[in-house]
Amino acid sequence: MKLTNEEIANRLMSLAQLLAARKENPFKIKAYRRAAKAISNMGESIDELVRNGDDLTQFPGIGEAIEAAIRELVSTGSLRRLEALRSDMSSEVVEISNYPQLDPRRVLRIFKKLGISTIEALKERLDAGEILREFGLRMEQHIRRGLADTRELLWYEAEKLVQNVEDYLVDRCGARHAEVVGQFRRRHETLTELSFLVEVDDFGSVVRKLRRYGGKADVVRAETDRASFRLASGVLLSVSAATRHDWGIRMIECTGSERHIAELQSRSPGLDTLRSSKAPFATEKSVYSAMGLLFIEPELREGNDEVARAATNDLPNLVTVEDIRGELHAHTVSSDGANSIEEMVEAARDRGLGYIGISDHSQSLKIAGGVSEDDLWEQIRYIDKLNERIEGIRILKGAEVDILQDGSLDYSESILKELDYTICSIHSRFGMNRSEQTERILRAMDNRYFNILGHPTGRLLLKRPGYEIDFERVIEHAQANRCHFELNSSPDRLDVSAANARHISAAGVGIVVTTDAHSTRELGYLRLGIDQARRAGLSKEKILNHLEWPALKRALRR
Ligand SMILES: [Zn+2]
Ligand SMILES: [Zn+2]
Repeated sequence: MKLTNEEIANRLMSLAQLLAARKENPFKIKAYRRAAKAISNMGESIDELVRNGDDLTQFPGIGEAIEAAIRELVSTGSLRRLEALRSDMSSEVVEISNYPQLDPRRVLRIFKKLGISTIEALKERLDAGEILREFGLRMEQHIRRGLADTRELLWYEAEKLVQNVEDYLVDRCGARHAEVVGQFRRRHETLTELSFLVEVDDFGSVVRKLRRYGGKADVVRAETDRASFRLASGVLLSVSAATRHDWGIRMIECTGSERHIAELQSRSPGLDTLRSSKAPFATEKSVYSAMGLLFIEPELREGNDEVARAATNDLPNLVTVEDIRGELHAHTVSSDGANSIEEMVEAARDRGLGYIGISDHSQSLKIAGGVSEDDLWEQIRYIDKLNERIEGIRILKGAEVDILQDGSLDYSESILKELDYTICSIHSRFGMNRSEQTERILRAMDNRYFNILGHPTGRLLLKRPGYEIDFERVIEHAQANRCHFELNSSPDRLDVSAANARHISAAGVGIVVTTDAHSTRELGYLRLGIDQARRAGLSKEKILNHLEWPALKRALRR
């Protein structure tokens, strides 16, 4: 029996899950998870590689111990270690471990409370809406995602897979050229499908080869010049063919949203006219130009106002990562971050930033190590000293201040006024109703030490929607009180959305793009937030932290 990469990855994930349930060595658990992820993304069949006697440790994430486990799995069909662990566990846990996206502890809690013991029963309760009623939206989303056949991805999660598929199309399928298009190219924050365009002589052979991606992929639909597949991991993949001559037209057709394409179609000449003219359009630029349009960046191709603006020479000059001068949302070991102030500061300086604001959690947020007032006083004095001896970057004294239930801020005025600025966020009571939640934020904005609304809607992509608020009223109130909005770059937040960023900016209210970094590595999330700002059509002037600190300080003054 041949195993797909996904089946191998799932066994390794199950092993990791059971080891975690027994609180075993976290490094080992992490190694299994990392290997599973890498294998799940790979195009070449691991099973075939093993049977050919190839060295698996050449692949990142696979060390000798894991290679041995994979060999055992391929040659015997099972893993002794996994079976031994399973025989030790209750039948519930064993069944749950067949669904590696599910968190066993959360599912066991549901089993217990609902008096059920099988995944089958869990599915029934999910469909009956019971999980939602009893455990809330976040839990429901988790279960739904864990049981789904088709998998949505965060943009950020798809990066490695996109690279692997592109390589596979060129190296294995004989494409002269392959490029990612669709939602991924538009930098959409979540993806229902990965799409590629290929230049190739024999499209049929591409389809045959892709059916072996990761060991086995199901064909969902196959036509003469396009096909789609469900990868073993549940990700939908579509591939379209183009020639050198119509490459530009096909790139545009496969990249833009339906609305964008419809807008182009309605122009004269439209896309169809250009295609039937048989004239060569090798680049996108040549296509747009034949329609009397400026080149439109992929991030803008959503069918908002970009076509009209391209026709009147009025496209925005989109912000870039290089335009950003400083970071304003960063955590340290003082709250729930992984690095010290010095480490965060050095990493920010290495990235060429001119300032970094330290914004640890405030006192009430106990689960995230919220900083007491006494400790914040100490941090303030410490940063003053550090600024005297550190060169090339300025450290700002900030805080991520909780907005409490009644709209008050989680520090006293006497300490708030010592800070350079505040980011004020909601971390509790997401369930308040729309008018209460809106009032809560408006009251918080009335505090003169409120500067920036942190992750303004509280959404977690593919996990939970934002809390209910009247966003228009919040924007109006921010405008009247010189408050600003955060665009949080954390890949599962990307909060605010591109659409909301458009509204905010159109109202003349400032946006800061921050990373909410909890480690030096996470300072690199900035490019994700910038992608989002670009999708909102924002130029650097609309982003407050494109300013150097003295100018930003003036802009934040209330
Ligand atoms: Zn936060
Ligand atoms: Zn934060």
